[in-house]
Amino acid sequence: MGISEALPLMAEVKKTAHLNNHSLTNFNILSEVKYSAICKICKQEVSIDLTAELPVSGSLFIEACVKPPRKKKNQISS
Ligand SMILES: [Zn+2]
Repeated sequence: MGISEALPLMAEVKKTAHLNNHSLTNFNILSEVKYSAICKICKQEVSIDLTAELPVSGSLFIEACVKPPRKKKNQISS
């Protein structure tokens, strides 16, 4: 196991993420069997774990990209 097995999954993840309007960062290599990436826009994460039964997991994979609303500054005046 190793990156050569992860590469096709990464390509698949990127494709799916793109279909859901996400803009993925490059994958971080967490270990020889674990990789993760986040969406630059909505900050949702996707991870690949080659040892897992379902190697791809993450909210990014199932949800479309939604830009988080900007937090309004609540100024509390005392
Ligand atoms: Zn996104």
